[in-house]
Amino acid sequence: EVVINRIAAGEVIQRPSNALKEMMENSLDAKATSVQVVVKDGGIKSLQILDNGTGIRLKDMDIVCERFTTSKLKKFEDLATVGTYGFRGEALASISHVAHVTITTKTADAKCAYRATYVDGKIQGQPKPCAANQGTKILVEDLFYNCKTRREALKPNEEFSRICDLVGKYSIQNSLTAFNLKKLGDSTAEINTPVKSSAKNNIQLIYGSEIAKELFDLGFEDKDLNLQVTGHATNGRYKGPRLEMIIFINGRLVECPSIKKQVELVYSEHLPAKSYPFVYLSVEMPQRFVDVNVHPTKESVEFFNERAIIERIGLELKEKLSANHK
Ligand code: ADP
Ligand code: MG
Repeated sequence: EVVINRIAAGEVIQRPSNALKEMMENSLDAKATSVQVVVKDGGIKSLQILDNGTGIRLKDMDIVCERFTTSKLKKFEDLATVGTYGFRGEALASISHVAHVTITTKTADAKCAYRATYVDGKIQGQPKPCAANQGTKILVEDLFYNCKTRREALKPNEEFSRICDLVGKYSIQNSLTAFNLKKLGDSTAEINTPVKSSAKNNIQLIYGSEIAKELFDLGFEDKDLNLQVTGHATNGRYKGPRLEMIIFINGRLVECPSIKKQVELVYSEHLPAKSYPFVYLSVEMPQRFVDVNVHPTKESVEFFNERAIIERIGLELKEKLSANHK
């Protein structure tokens, strides 16, 4: 059983950033207003995430790393309308099959915090009382210690830049929550966004003011299409070297080639060849219209009325871009 679980886990967790994404989503599900990440060797040696969310109850600590253990689905019907990121209870289990996991956590009403370590989904011994603030700290060490070829294929610098990219994008989408990303031992943070910030402010902090100063607001609402869009895009003056496009649909970071294509098409009428925009789009629509293929390594998405929605977004972009050129 351990072998099968390990294979399944290796498919879900292919690199440090996959593990981090799952853990950041758990922190956000736990209503954290602060998420602090510390990594060593691109997260391969160690990856730690500390949040100030609800914490995990002592009685749940035995089983949090077991497969299909989730506190987020109360009944089966919830599956269609989940508002939280996680609902399958697979992430921590998978991580514990390919790394050493230590969880330190405290709920608001607990007298003290508890710490436990996990191997292959199983808690090692009993949770030990310790001191900590409310929230959860998860330390993931020696990723792929049991899969040498995988481990050797990972390059720390490349993994670190994937982590930066991911934390940056999440901080833009979840701008009310403060994010901090550091390499272990470094005094200065790679990413540091304040609590109750804004998407635009965080774009400036992460992608720089060259981009931020050329942004216009792409937000709009379309009642007929049941669509609520917020976002920012660069005007015709900004000519980036490569397309930078961040798309969240119902809070999930997704690859959406069809939207991307439409956006490129609209910009091609405004930008010279080989220069590209920066676009951040956060699209909200009723959950029942969205079919997210939640594979942690590549979230692809399909949605009802896709053509109409994409054309609507393209039209909004086109109008605002043209208005900006006058
Ligand atoms: P899922 O998110 O799909 O429920 P996970 O494996 O990601 O499954 O997490 C398992 C459970 O562990 C969650 O349902 C939640 O109860 C708990 N948990 C994990 N991380 C945190 C966290 N940072 N804060 C509070 N609870 C957490
Ligand atoms: Mg989860």
